[in-house]
Amino acid sequence: MPTTATIDFSTAFYKGSISVQTGLFINGEWVEPVEPDTHDIINPATGKKITAISLGSSKDVDLAVAAAQTAYKTVWGLKCPGSKRGKLLTRLADLIERDIEQFIALESLNTGKPFNSAKNVDMAESVSCIRYFGGWADKVHGKTVESQLGEQKLAYTRHEPYGVVGQIIPWNSPMRMVSWKIGPALATGNCVVLKPSEITPLTALKFAELVTEAGFPPGVVNIVNGYGSTVGQAIATHPKISKIAFTGSTLVGRKILEESARTNLKVVTLELGGKSPTIIFDDCNLEQTVKWAMQAMYGNQGQSCVAGSRLFVQEGIYPQFMENFTAAVTALSQATGDPFVNGTRHGPQRIMGYIASGKDEGANLHLGGKRHGAEGYFIKPTIFTDVTPSMKIVKEEIFGPVAVIMKFKTEEEVIEAANATEYGLSACVFSDNISRAIRVAHAVESGSAFVNSSQLVEPSMPFGGYKASGIGREHGEYALETYTQVKAVHINIGVTI
Ligand code: NAD
Repeated sequence: MPTTATIDFSTAFYKGSISVQTGLFINGEWVEPVEPDTHDIINPATGKKITAISLGSSKDVDLAVAAAQTAYKTVWGLKCPGSKRGKLLTRLADLIERDIEQFIALESLNTGKPFNSAKNVDMAESVSCIRYFGGWADKVHGKTVESQLGEQKLAYTRHEPYGVVGQIIPWNSPMRMVSWKIGPALATGNCVVLKPSEITPLTALKFAELVTEAGFPPGVVNIVNGYGSTVGQAIATHPKISKIAFTGSTLVGRKILEESARTNLKVVTLELGGKSPTIIFDDCNLEQTVKWAMQAMYGNQGQSCVAGSRLFVQEGIYPQFMENFTAAVTALSQATGDPFVNGTRHGPQRIMGYIASGKDEGANLHLGGKRHGAEGYFIKPTIFTDVTPSMKIVKEEIFGPVAVIMKFKTEEEVIEAANATEYGLSACVFSDNISRAIRVAHAVESGSAFVNSSQLVEPSMPFGGYKASGIGREHGEYALETYTQVKAVHINIGVTI
């Protein structure tokens, strides 16, 4: 019997109960897994259990894929005009907006991110992303192509959906990831089998309730909770899934690609990890730069794929930057704690191993480096200086609030150092010399480059990685390409043989 959890809130931000379905959402219904199993969902701010959700297996993925295939063939895909898909997506965005406070509360509770971030970043972006792709749904089209046979032939292309797409998302920004994935997939006429992270599934489950209310036919969206090694693996290897969109670590992304090669050659798009540079020149606006660099590094507690975790500061401004940045990070440190307290800017994490490695390898622990408080998974925002390129804390994605800061002299030197990483997701450049800022933005090997700002991601601009940070693009018109395949149609008008 599918169950509903009632989660009670008594915070300044949200008071009352929120009910969440804890089963699997397959073919428009809440069902229990074929093989009953559950998984506890933990509040990272306290370490205590929030509720338990049902855990699926490969058998549930089979059912979800079958439902998605039927929906695709009968009521969705080529059977449903883009204008109708767009209307449904727009309605879905409206419903999320109607229930936005519940989404914010659940997102904050389950991920540990401060409710203001959940509100102003995650949920604001989720709504605008779904709405944006709703607008694209009736604007996806091919071209008439000039044939070498002239009037003897009509030649044109169509951008057709794949059918059933598999989507696997990480734990750090669940609703953003749900909307980034589901928006373009549905706009282009695909049906979806999505696996949320087993750590943070609550808002994806709440979202599923609205899918039905918005009027999407059963089977168009299916949400299957489960572990990566079971449900994730089943999606990655399923013969009836022809495209997979994965967001998560580079380690798992490689596995997804290998599984695709080993099985049915799914088209794979990957949004993976990063170790993004923040490059600060002497002539920057220091006050603004410190604020943006703080956001780049410590936004979402550093648990952001685009975290600007390698800071390169030009030698002339280095002492003043260090003074101002250290003061800002110290203030942030004092605002670490309960995500529902107004003013809290910094939630919980688990990255003590990296901090120990930084110390062991001889880096200077300039600030932080300790756990914060007695309960939950809080760590103080941390800065290392005197680091070398071979150190683990410089090379690897930490996915927590740990910055490494390095000094540089010249533009050429910093470009080389910034690019000396396997990753290439994002970069920030700060300089009032706009020619230099543009030159450096073009020279960094990354899928996004922000000049005099950070993380101003929006649905209309493509997002994705160079190098080991990913394959393909989400957001913008570019995302539509990754959810459609091009068919060339040749109509003979007058050629005879
Ligand atoms: P993760 O790779 O551990 O897990 C991501 C998802 O994959 C989860 O749903 C997990 O259950 C599933 N999974 C795990 N093993 C699997 C397998 N063998 N087969 C199929 N699925 C499997 O990542 P995480 O810890 O949830 O998230 C953090 C990572 O995500 C970081 O590396 C971060 O940079 C990255 N990330 C990237 C972006 C981006 O847009 N580039 C955005 C957010 C997070």
